[in-house]
Amino acid sequence: MIWLIFGAPGSGKGTQSLMLSKKYDFRHLSTGDMFRHNLKNQTDLGLKAKSFIDKGNLVPDEVVTLMVESALSETSKSIILDGYPRTKEQAQSLESICSKLKKDIKGVMYLNVPDENITQRLSGRRVCESCGAVYHVDSKPESKTGVCDKCDGRVSQRKDDAPEVIKNRLEVYKKSTEPVMSFYKDKGLFFEVNGVGDTQDVFSRLEDVLG
Ligand SMILES: [Zn+2]
Repeated sequence: MIWLIFGAPGSGKGTQSLMLSKKYDFRHLSTGDMFRHNLKNQTDLGLKAKSFIDKGNLVPDEVVTLMVESALSETSKSIILDGYPRTKEQAQSLESICSKLKKDIKGVMYLNVPDENITQRLSGRRVCESCGAVYHVDSKPESKTGVCDKCDGRVSQRKDDAPEVIKNRLEVYKKSTEPVMSFYKDKGLFFEVNGVGDTQDVFSRLEDVLG
């Protein structure tokens, strides 16, 4: 069976998916990981995707969908699918993939976090340019501002974590996922979870959805 997880950038979706897959032995499949896997192993799909990325173009739907199909067919475990479908067309493709592979979509878990909270989380985030360690100005500051505790590297804000960029990222996310969310709402497969608060509390809420 397959659970889909939705959430804006900064919603905590990655952390929660990891916790769910540890506790329930789910296979966490994110489109980001699928891309890295296919690019690294230079699969036909990876090479195809690379030809678009190298030209600065978006990887077309068909290629992404084939990657998802291949990843889904490689495991008999229950799956948390992260980052797909992004459009209504992809949602329809996923339906055909599932019927072909005889897998069931159990539902969509949507981590709902208000824009203000996301902006606060992301705009306070600082990342070490050398080792990738992540800090936060409020909840987890480095001991000496701008210097990584682990490697003495330079700690700075990523360009896409700047407040005006975050606002744009959230708008793009909302606009693009709305039709997908309605698609699953119409099927009665949409479960909204309050994503604000302690990581463990959010996790318990997700567990309630899993039933
Ligand atoms: Zn570092």
